[in-house]
Amino acid sequence: MNGTPGPAHLERTLQSDISFSGVGLHSGAMVQMRLVPAPAGSGIVFRRTDLDNFEIPATGRNVAKVSYATSLMRQSVLIQTTEHLLSALIGFGVDNVIVEVDNLEVPILDGSALPYVQAFESTGLRVQRRRREYLRILKEVEVRDGSKFIGVYPGAGYTIDYTIDFPHPIGSANFRGDLASGAYARLIAPARTFGFKEDEAMLRNMGLIRGASEACAIILSRHGIQNGPLRFDDEFVRHKVLDLIGDLALAGRRIQGRVVAERAGHAMHTALVQKLMRDRSAWEFAHGYDALPETSQTETQSASPALRLAPAHA
Ligand SMILES: [Zn+2]
Repeated sequence: MNGTPGPAHLERTLQSDISFSGVGLHSGAMVQMRLVPAPAGSGIVFRRTDLDNFEIPATGRNVAKVSYATSLMRQSVLIQTTEHLLSALIGFGVDNVIVEVDNLEVPILDGSALPYVQAFESTGLRVQRRRREYLRILKEVEVRDGSKFIGVYPGAGYTIDYTIDFPHPIGSANFRGDLASGAYARLIAPARTFGFKEDEAMLRNMGLIRGASEACAIILSRHGIQNGPLRFDDEFVRHKVLDLIGDLALAGRRIQGRVVAERAGHAMHTALVQKLMRDRSAWEFAHGYDALPETSQTETQSASPALRLAPAHA
């Protein structure tokens, strides 16, 4: 027996509303966004306030076309570029929230998840009376596309092993970490998105980066970084981890297992989610308190910012 569930294994929402405003990276449209606390068991739900409060739950079923960002669509209503916000919510430990937006895209802010995590830290989280349900991986599921690869495997915690290999000046890098240790806010959230100056004209002409600026991305050229300094020496691979966490949020539950990705991107990330969802023998629902031995559970969770910042341990 592993005992009764501690607060680490209960769901959480925000203590109160949080508002953001800014432009969407792809649309260039100005967006007002408000995160609203939501009841236990409701998950993450986007709400288009400009379209009669039409709701789009953040699940793999609603994944739309995926190219430079991960977008959700239900009954032809779209919400674009959801991955950084979803990453922050999962990484920081927010289970239930309504995301009100008055336009078709989540604002890009500084291109990282740091503004979200800082807002969660100052607002605080409320522990709810419902046990968190995890998606425990039982066997490997893999997606390969040429030299691109992503796979998920059984394992305790939530471990990510990401390898990138980009043209100069990024080059190759690897990041390996355990998300369950609560390190997300410090190690992953500040890492910003990035783009190559050489691709800018093409992407602008395609209407893909109408909101792009030096304030919301690391801009690179073959000569180097145009708007340094970096926040981490390996900021690029950390941002890929940030994206992966956001995209895997579309599985609808926190994953318990090990994820390995090489040269992947949004299309590969979401392909994995969809393949995983289709293979019902590859996972089971599990509650956190019987997922790990109690000792390691206590150690890892005590370092979690979500736990330290939750003022109301129900
Ligand atoms: Zn990103």
